Amino acid sequence: MQNTNVAYDSKVEGEIIVTQADAVINWIRKHSVWPMPMGLACCAIELMAAGASRFDISRFGMEVMRFSPRQADCMIVSGTVTYKMAEVIRRIYEQMAEPKWVVAMGACASTGGMYRSYATLQGVDRIIPVDVYVSGCPPRPEALLDAMIKLQDKIGRERSVKNLTARNAKPAKAENLALAGAGKES
Ligand code: SF4
Repeated sequence: MQNTNVAYDSKVEGEIIVTQADAVINWIRKHSVWPMPMGLACCAIELMAAGASRFDISRFGMEVMRFSPRQADCMIVSGTVTYKMAEVIRRIYEQMAEPKWVVAMGACASTGGMYRSYATLQGVDRIIPVDVYVSGCPPRPEALLDAMIKLQDKIGRERSVKNLTARNAKPAKAENLALAGAGKES
């Protein structure tokens, strides 16, 4: 078969499908990404729209928005990250089980946006590792869906078995990003 990790030949193997463990695990994971909606400002309205019928994020298996970090796979940070909220975001991220991913939705979450101020974190990647950035102020729901598809591609390339067998194979990048260090703004 072309461009696939799955091999199937009914004449030779009957009802057996041959594949790799990574392909199966990643296939399951990428089609059941349950988001943790971290709505902080106006971008959150676009996030809500992505979940509504017009854009229908459930087409990608992502409609199960979880407000419990223990049941969520992907934190979607949508809005302005103030220092006051940064600590909360970091704590919720740490409560999410591995594997976990982060999408920075919009200019504010990605870079601080227009808020070059003492109260605003200049990008959520200063406290947690971000997998996909979405540009725009605000980005449209289609842009978020595009980012989630890119995240699916990324999940599809992960070495899941290796990460499962070697506990420290995927070090938590966020551990190196001290929240205190994020306060050193110019
Ligand atoms: S990027 Fe624009 S729309 Fe999104 S939270 Fe910031 S100011 Fe609001």
